Amino acid sequence: MTSKNDTLMERAQRTTPGGVNSPVRAFRSVGGTPRFITHADGPYVWDADGKRYTDYVGSWGPAIVGHAHPTVVKAVQEAAAKGLSFGAPTEAEIEMAEEICRLVPSIEQVRLVSSGTEATMSALRLARGATGRDLIVKFEGCYHGHADSLLVKAGSGLLTFGNPTSAGVPADFVQHTLVLEYNNTQQLEDAFAEMGDDIACVIVEPIAGNMNLVRATPEFLNTMRKLCSQYGAVLIFDEVMSGFRAALHGAQSLYGITPDITALGKVIGGGLPVAAFGGKVDIMKHMAPIGPVYQAGTLSGNPVAVAAGMATLKLIQEPGFFESLTRQTSRLAQGLSAAAAEAGVGFCADSVGGMFGIYFLDQKPDSYAAMMRSDIPKFNRFFHAMLDAGHFFAPAAFEAGFVSGAHDDAIVDETVEAARKAFAALV
Ligand SMILES: *Cc1c(COP(=O)(O)O)cnc(C)c1O
Repeated sequence: MTSKNDTLMERAQRTTPGGVNSPVRAFRSVGGTPRFITHADGPYVWDADGKRYTDYVGSWGPAIVGHAHPTVVKAVQEAAAKGLSFGAPTEAEIEMAEEICRLVPSIEQVRLVSSGTEATMSALRLARGATGRDLIVKFEGCYHGHADSLLVKAGSGLLTFGNPTSAGVPADFVQHTLVLEYNNTQQLEDAFAEMGDDIACVIVEPIAGNMNLVRATPEFLNTMRKLCSQYGAVLIFDEVMSGFRAALHGAQSLYGITPDITALGKVIGGGLPVAAFGGKVDIMKHMAPIGPVYQAGTLSGNPVAVAAGMATLKLIQEPGFFESLTRQTSRLAQGLSAAAAEAGVGFCADSVGGMFGIYFLDQKPDSYAAMMRSDIPKFNRFFHAMLDAGHFFAPAAFEAGFVSGAHDDAIVDETVEAARKAFAALV
């Protein structure tokens, strides 16, 4: 019997490039047909055939309280009934800004935007505008959205400038971007020694979630903080994924490091388009309309999106929410590791707060190069075995996974049980 997903995929490809509005959804790296989702509830999503999956993608992070949480849905409905967008300020935006500043103490002022890409792109412009320098430093394996200057991979030499990773990005743009190895402290020190006075900013995922989950070492981030302060460069923590996800107060609270600018997204919209960037008044004062750095958005601070975000931020602050999310995510990671060990599959897993990484490797990766050594064919077989059994993991080996507050003991146990069978079938 043909799956409705196949029919929809065929139809989608006629009018949308590759059938999807964001490449990873197309299942290109795992093969097979993407599932077209009809609806979701709590920890579950349903596809076009009516099949139910336990969801570990969570819209790539935002669905932290579970899908269609009644409190969030109600907040959205109430806001929508009062008008969808005004292009003028609202009190709800002030409340959202106050909440963000309270939750992330390194932020004194914040600007709301509509996507993580916009947040990081604007943060870069702010850093360049505030320092009067052009050079930016990023790290291999970190993803910061699809702005031109950030779609770069390392050049041929360690301290040479990068090459675009997308067609359509002029080489001239990326010649201002230096790409270094994640967790390579020595290389970062060498880069600053050579050209520190020209560096506008360093942008980093303090806990990387776009080369699967890779933790920065405290030494790496502490050195980065020290060098940025010493050379007058701006330290940007891209917490679009880790913010309100790795911990309530972000990855920066786990490391005890104060970045100059933080980029946020995903969870702060609770499933609608809200993202943000912020920092101390001293740097944010460079933003228009009070400063010379221009940035704007027709739908920025949109009342419906802000309502979803605020409702979500309130829910994750309920007593015990983060403790329970952290415990459940860690139960999943440990359960999967134990199941793989039983089957004799080279595998390990890690988790921080409500995000996790699964690796077909003998030890946890500390860099992009280490992650690249994972057994991708094995991951792909595992992915499909789990999908068949009704458990939806990210459809690519290099993505982190997400647990929500709606994933309880029984649901996680069921997933681990399915994984036990999937691992056994791999050897
Ligand atoms: C998802 C993500 C982005 C991009 O956010 P979009 O909303 O998809 O534009 C940027 N940085 C990090 C760390 C992300 O995980």
